[in-house]
Amino acid sequence: MKCKLCGSEKIKKISIEDKYYYCENCELIFIEPNSFPSYKKELEVYEGHDNNHENEGYVRRFRNFINTLIVEHMEDIEDVLEFGCGPGPVLADMLEERGLNVVKYDPFFYPDVDYKNKKYDLITSTEVFEHFWKPKKEVEELIELIKEKAYLAVMTSFHPGFEEFKEWWYRRDSTHVTFYNLDTFKYLESNYPLKIIKTNNENGIIFQKE
Ligand SMILES: [Zn+2]
Repeated sequence: MKCKLCGSEKIKKISIEDKYYYCENCELIFIEPNSFPSYKKELEVYEGHDNNHENEGYVRRFRNFINTLIVEHMEDIEDVLEFGCGPGPVLADMLEERGLNVVKYDPFFYPDVDYKNKKYDLITSTEVFEHFWKPKKEVEELIELIKEKAYLAVMTSFHPGFEEFKEWWYRRDSTHVTFYNLDTFKYLESNYPLKIIKTNNENGIIFQKE
């Protein structure tokens, strides 16, 4: 067993449900492939999410995400990729309202892969990284699509550590298969042309490509 992000063999099993592994090198927590959800199960969960403009909590989280991580860079941004936008692309709409050009991609709901043909001033990916089955590949593909000096803004709940993971609510969604914390993102900073420019060390982080 190797870490799905850094490739380290320093892996510890988390003694719960016989499927979670923790990397001592980059602190990624991941699920073994046999325990991945089926396509049908994933679709069912995503369609069941109440993710639309009527859901005030959902809209507020995105407004907060934009205001704390993105707004101060707005002058540098024109072309955006909303990667994994889901069925009701609320964040994409909010960014368009601010005058940005937003390309939407979602493997289930906006599957057109034309997004790969250009590069972006900002890639947003909210509540998506935890669904990555192959985080190394996914992250590397996203980095390729960011222009020099441009941004990657990610929302995913940072895991609380090896011991606390068992009781953590966020893992209970069966489509969540990969979990990160600040050290995992620092691993990305050290090994890819990405610099962390701001994070709340809870569920949001923005990188700039170097
Ligand atoms: Zn690792």
